[in-house]
Amino acid sequence: AAAAEEPITPPVQINYTKLLINGQFVNSASGKTFPTLDPRTGDVIAHVAEGDVEDVNRAVSAARKAFDEGPWPKMTAYERSRILLRFADLVEKHSDELAALETWDNGKTYEQAAKGELPLFVRLFHYYAGWADKIHGLTVPADGPYHVQTLHEPIGVAGQIVPWNFPLIMFAWKVGPALACGNTIVLKTAEQTPLTALYVAKLFHEAGLPPGVLNIVSGFGPTVGAAIASHMDVDKLAFTGSTATGKVVLQLAAKSNLKSVTLELGGKSPFIVCEDADVDKAVELAHSALFFNQGQCCCAGSRTFVHEHIYDEFLEKSKARAMRRIVGDPFKSGVEQGPQIDAVQFEKILRYIRSGIESKATLECGGGRLGSKGFYIQPTVFSNVQDDMLIAQDEIFGPVQSILKFNDLRDVIKRANATQYGLAAGVFTNNVDTANTLSRALRAGTVWVNCFDVFDAAIPFGGYKMSGIGREKGIYSLSNYLQVKAVVTPLKNP
Ligand code: ADP
Repeated sequence: AAAAEEPITPPVQINYTKLLINGQFVNSASGKTFPTLDPRTGDVIAHVAEGDVEDVNRAVSAARKAFDEGPWPKMTAYERSRILLRFADLVEKHSDELAALETWDNGKTYEQAAKGELPLFVRLFHYYAGWADKIHGLTVPADGPYHVQTLHEPIGVAGQIVPWNFPLIMFAWKVGPALACGNTIVLKTAEQTPLTALYVAKLFHEAGLPPGVLNIVSGFGPTVGAAIASHMDVDKLAFTGSTATGKVVLQLAAKSNLKSVTLELGGKSPFIVCEDADVDKAVELAHSALFFNQGQCCCAGSRTFVHEHIYDEFLEKSKARAMRRIVGDPFKSGVEQGPQIDAVQFEKILRYIRSGIESKATLECGGGRLGSKGFYIQPTVFSNVQDDMLIAQDEIFGPVQSILKFNDLRDVIKRANATQYGLAAGVFTNNVDTANTLSRALRAGTVWVNCFDVFDAAIPFGGYKMSGIGREKGIYSLSNYLQVKAVVTPLKNP
């Protein structure tokens, strides 16, 4: 309802809107800019330099030079670690402004950005700084008189393409491990949310990052993104976004230089509430598993499976909880849900809601836009959802909860696994055997048992099936950014 009020003025200035190439903020070669919008109103926040192929070429040359000649991979690992730590500390110092900028550009609540995402961003860089000087190879016992060792080397120039739903967190998941391992980077932010990456990049250089190590080319997917994915001098590609675009960039990588690719893509994650669960706790967790970040999470618990014995109670309480959800200006304290990111997503979500109604799911609450300005959508709950409905199959990426009924564990395992996706799953039960059975049977990169959305820096994250290739965060993320070289030397006097 607060959507109708005058938007609160964000407590931050916009200072960085140009491309970052070789340590300098520069205009794009074409001189073009694009607007980034305030999701609360649809008004322009700022005009940002719009990159294209030529800018990507410049950025890749800078990254190449910084890798081949530059100080970065030749520095001691400890020196690199110190820069990552200094950077994290600077971000911590500026985290109020950064949280405000993230909220302004994205529409997420300021409380979530300030209390959740900025501290996690700092933690992620502290975590990766800790790895920088602990990366090393092995000595290998071989048959025959050889001394064999492996060297773990950086891959080279990493191209990184990130989405708009968690601009800073995605930056950290990608940039942290790449730099800890000694690579250099050309990063493309999402066209909806270019601002915070430029701000933190400025802080990175204050922290001592040499020029050319991190380059940022803002702009659009088919131009900047495609140029990075198909560049002959980019050695590795990391992408987070939709499954459809993931397939495109994987093809571009294959057609160009076979750069290795990691993908973190879409999901349609099941959240399974067993009959022994504490209903009130399960309702709250299932609610936040779906509605967190306006429902704009690749791992959103977007299929809530509920055992038939507790279904009616669960449904009533979930509906009541959704109706209590506080939607409004994300800068206002106490607000739980801000606007969706843009008109495209807003319209797409409303289309899915119409599809749910047409396919005869029961609309329990919500179902429409909120207010007349910006991209606010009412928290929406569907019950009586069937597996073959579009709303149970497609990623909606919005505040739309689909509740499905089940009666038997074997059956729910089959149904939970019956999508093209396999990113995450939630399991809610007090029975350890049920928890074990489900967590082993679910084909998903993460299973959260009696919790959800736990994003610790050390916990790996990634997808089965069409939810992606590879893992980010944790020790597993390092292998995305390292080559292994075997060095074999004959032993003279074994
Ligand atoms: P979403 O639908 O959530 O915007 P996308 O997969 O389209 O997801 O976007 C994720 C990122 O991929 C964004 O930075 C976007 O600009 C980029 N992107 C979109 N299309 C392409 C493409 N053809 N090639 C490379 N990158 C792309």
